Amino acid sequence: MHNAILNICSLFNQYCPLCDSPLKDGGGPCAECLEDLPYHHRGCDICALPGVTGTCENCAKQRPSFSRVFAGFTYRFPLPQIIHRVKKGADPEAIHWLAQTLTKRLGAQLPADAALIAVPMHPIDELIRGFNQSQVLAESIAQQLNRPAPLSILQKSRRTEHQAHLNRAQRRANLAHCFEIERSPPKRLILVDDVMTTGTTVERISNLLLKSGAEEVFICTLCRTPD
Ligand SMILES: [Zn+2]
Ligand SMILES: [Zn+2]
Repeated sequence: MHNAILNICSLFNQYCPLCDSPLKDGGGPCAECLEDLPYHHRGCDICALPGVTGTCENCAKQRPSFSRVFAGFTYRFPLPQIIHRVKKGADPEAIHWLAQTLTKRLGAQLPADAALIAVPMHPIDELIRGFNQSQVLAESIAQQLNRPAPLSILQKSRRTEHQAHLNRAQRRANLAHCFEIERSPPKRLILVDDVMTTGTTVERISNLLLKSGAEEVFICTLCRTPD
């Protein structure tokens, strides 16, 4: 129902959300703005850190538990601004055209037999925001790839401090024991996140999934930060 309303709204959106130029077809950015987006190029073989060939220093020092990160965009202008608007509820449609752009580029590479699952928010934070953007993103990716809906077996059971100003060690401590899993997961999973920074959150959840019976975890993030 929610998606149906968004789809109807998009029919009336006659202007590019990025440059305000009039659109012929409606919905999403114009061709020029789409072409100018900071698409992510592979980077580190494991964590997709930009500007790296092979494996980055961090992954070489301590190999993450997930196999590989698929990233749609590098977290550069205008992505931080778009994500900020999405989180404030000011641009709910953006997540759908971003998901569509991501699946067009990466859909064929995402392992076909892996189940989608989103990084959860604490229920109180989700209530305050009204939605979990990673969940909406995972649902949109599933819909566009004709895949089953994302699993809902993960929970964030403890509220945590905002990660942005914490270093890697502080992030790890901040996220200790805050995720829980309700039942054993399928063997292969794709964990969906909106923005991957140091990867502490996805590493924490990937570890939990693997400990709970999964055999391989991939990460699909809309954006990967450049450092
Ligand atoms: Zn435009
Ligand atoms: Zn790496």
